[in-house]
Parts: sequence; structure tokens; C-alpha cells
Amino acid sequence: MTVALDLESLAATLAGTVVTPADPEWPSARMAWNLAVDQQPAFVVQVADADDVAAVVRYAGAAGLRVTPQGTGHNAAPLGDLSSTILLRTDRLQEVTVDPAARRVRIGAGVVWSQVTEALRPHGLTALAGSAPDVGVVGYTLGGGYSWLARKYGLAASRVQAVELVTGDGTFCRVDRDHRPELFRAVRGGGANLGVVCALEFDVLPLSQVYAGWLMFPLDRAREVLDGYRAWTDGLDEAATTCVRLLRIPPLPDLPDFLSGRSFAMVDGAVDLPEAEAAELLAPLRALGPVIDTFAPMSTADLGQLHMDPPGPAPACGDGFVLDDLPSAAVDVLMELAGPGVDTPLLLVDLRHLGGALARRDPDGGAVDHLPGRFLGFTGGMVPVPEALPVVRAAVHRLVDAVQPWRSGRDYLNFREAADDPARFFDPATLQLLRALRAELDPAGVLRSNHAF
Ligand SMILES: Cc1cc2nc3c(=O)[nH]c(=O)nc-3n(C[C@H](O)[C@H](O)[C@H](O)COP(=O)(O)OP(=O)(O)OC[C@H]3O[C@@H](n4cnc5c(N)ncnc54)[C@H](O)[C@@H]3O)c2cc1C
Repeated sequence: MTVALDLESLAATLAGTVVTPADPEWPSARMAWNLAVDQQPAFVVQVADADDVAAVVRYAGAAGLRVTPQGTGHNAAPLGDLSSTILLRTDRLQEVTVDPAARRVRIGAGVVWSQVTEALRPHGLTALAGSAPDVGVVGYTLGGGYSWLARKYGLAASRVQAVELVTGDGTFCRVDRDHRPELFRAVRGGGANLGVVCALEFDVLPLSQVYAGWLMFPLDRAREVLDGYRAWTDGLDEAATTCVRLLRIPPLPDLPDFLSGRSFAMVDGAVDLPEAEAAELLAPLRALGPVIDTFAPMSTADLGQLHMDPPGPAPACGDGFVLDDLPSAAVDVLMELAGPGVDTPLLLVDLRHLGGALARRDPDGGAVDHLPGRFLGFTGGMVPVPEALPVVRAAVHRLVDAVQPWRSGRDYLNFREAADDPARFFDPATLQLLRALRAELDPAGVLRSNHAF
């Protein structure tokens, strides 16, 4: 039997579509959100329902292939060689159902955050969405999910109430706190190692407004801003979830003049307090004298615009890290590699504030139920041509290596864009449980995640 005949029989069982390198749709079907990642899978299946997912997983098991599910490809970089892997795209799983009375949302695996925030807007409800509107809800949530409300409400994964998935043996199941609770916990962190998620249900908050915005300073003042931010975050109220960043904005025609081609040290984020109290909380940062201050009451549905993440697919290279602290010596390192006057391809160095609810284990949470450490870092740059990749990658490595003395022993897997030892993502007992479950549910190792264990 030839592979072509095999694919015909697979395609005949599916409501969705098989796309092979011979098809005109191949370039778009295999494309990740991160355009710098050149995915060359064996073939792509655009699934239309959970039956398709099960059929693809069973087919892969029988054919000796592997399956990697992909919502958007924001975190495609660690996947590596996909030549023996079926890329299972979930884009067509587009259900978004809001139950306002129960404050619950059900989504299909292809849904991105902007769809959820827009569906919630008329109901005055808020989900623990990430900074970028086009990140996939499933990939983000299975990795933990750090939102602009994270220090007050914890990780998005802890709000999940039910998961529908197909395990590596091709079995569909619905898991929650009462049905297969061990798998329900494990998949919220274990992600694609344990199953292909078809749908998620999660709780949302009765919240429609926060105090949010930016404080921008010229990059020349980066040292003062980083030192001031570090001091400000000492013992800070959990209602504030913010990020300090060194940002070099490329000259782009769509951007306003005050942003295009400029470099800033800035703080952005949200404070979930009444306006007067939030303003009082921000007073020490405002006293530093920002050149732009946009903090004001803001609809939570607009928080996706705050961080100026790329509005669509972009060629990028970056990586994440967690710092236990940001002492003066660590600021020195950041100044040397990304401070004013430095010629670097790094467009951003972000330090998002941890602590608060993120520091506490959540009894309702999954395998990733908290994020130890003080600052969640990410650095990266654009890769406009493939030749730029080694240059940007080297700059990323240089910065991540240089902050090594202050790095936590644990990383946040959603922010890591390079494959690494899974012991960096889980405590030893959790990793052991995840591996045991994986061996039971996927003995042939059909499923393939970007962060495998
Ligand atoms: C611009 C940008 C902004 C970001 N902002 C934030 C932020 O504010 N907070 C935060 O926490 N993270 C953030 N992230 C990180 C983001 O959460 C991760 O990249 C996440 O993995 C993306 O999920 P995805 O589904 O969009 O990506 P994908 O690359 O499609 O998937 C990521 C991982 O999830 C798995 N996966 C996807 N779909 C399924 C499925 N149906 N079943 C099982 N596994 C699946 C994939 O196999 C892969 O292992 C950001 C990333 C970028 C690039």
C-alpha cells in the first residue's frame, strides 16, 4: 500500500481536510504564527471535529507517525524536525459559547483570545486572557496562562472546569474534577504530551473594568526605571499585574509618530482596584516622571491592545526565563546588553511581575498551578530574513546566559521557545506523575508536544 493510498483512505474518513506537499494550500496550511519557523511536517490535517482528531491519532499510531496539535503556532519554535509528524491544525474548531448566568465559557480548540474577550464584552465578564489577542486559548491555558490579572486571580489553567480530549491511544474523553481527575490535573501543564484537546470549559470573572495603561520613559532612563520598578514591586498589592520593558519599536508605517522607530523603558499593566486607589498605588512610578502616561479606567475587553504585541503572524526569535530577583548587578547586565546606546537586535526585554496569587499553589489547579520566582522574563527580536536568525538567536542566548546568576530553577513553559530539560517546568513529583500517565495513555509515543517529557 502506498502512502498516497493511505492518505486517501484517511481523508475519506474525515470531515476535515488532508493537505500534502503536493497541494496548492501547502504553504499556508503548514505555516506557523511564528513565520521564522519553517514547519515541514509529513502532512497537515485540518480537523473539523473530535471524531477527526481521534481518527488522525489512530491513523498515526498505525502508520508509525506522530501527531502534533497546533492552534496558532505561537510556540512552534521548539518542535524541531516534523518530517515523521502529522501537523494537526485545530483552526476549524471554532465554537465559542458563553453561559453568562453560570459565568462559564466553552471554546473549541481553534479559538484565539480575541474571540473570547469580544464574546464576553457585552456580558461584563472577563477571562484570564494573555497579552496577545491572537494567541490560542488552548495552548496558552494548557501551559498555565499569565494574564493582566494574574497576580490577583492566579493562572488561567486553574479556572478550567472541563477538558475534552483525545489521548495518544485515540480515545476521546471528557475529564473534570469528578471524572478522571488525575488526567484533568495533568493535562493543565502536560498539554499535548497527554492529549489533543478538542474543547475547554472555563470560568470567567464578573469584572468589566480595570485601571490600566502605560508609563513610558525614554530608553536613556532605563536604569532608573528598572531600579524604581524593582523597589516599587516590593510587597506590592496583588491587585497590580504589570511588566517593565526595554522596548525598541521598529519604524512601521502603521504606528503613530510618537512610537514608530522610538525606544523606551516602560511599565504597562493593569490594577484591579477602584480608580483612586489604583492611582495611589501607581504614584511612586508616576513620580519618576514618564513622558507618556496612559493609565486610566479601561474595559477589560480592551486589555489585548495594551502590550503592543504583533497584530498577526510575525517572524520572531525569543526565549523566556524567570528571575528570583533583580538586584543592581542584574540591572547592570541588562543595561550592558539592551540598555541605551547598545546596538542590539533585541526589540524587547520584558520582566513581568510574579508573586501574589501566582506564588501560591492552587488546590484547583493543574500540573502547572503556580509560578515561583519574582519576574517572568522574555526577550527576543524580529527575523525579517532567514539570515538574521542566528544573529537574533545569539543575542537572545547572550542575555539569557548573562542573567543566569539570578535565574530561578524553574521556568514558565509558555515563555520558553527552546526545547529544554522538562525538570525546568515541573517539580520532580509532578514530572514523575506526568510521565507515568503518559506511558499509560500513549505507550507508542504518538503525541508530540513542543515541550516533551
Ligand atoms: C506575542 C506573544 C504574546 C504572548 N503573551 C502571553 C501572555 O500574555 N501570557 C502567557 O501566558 N503566554 C503568552 N504567550 C505565550 C503563549 O501562551 C504560548 O506561546 C502558547 O503556547 C501559545 O499557544 P498557541 O495555541 O497559540 O500556540 P501553538 O504553538 O499552536 O501551541 C503551543 C503548544 O500547545 C499545544 N497545543 C496547541 N493546541 C493544542 C490542543 N488542541 N491540544 C493539545 N495541545 C495543544 C501545542 O502542541 C504546543 O505544544 C505569548 C506568546 C507570544 C508569541
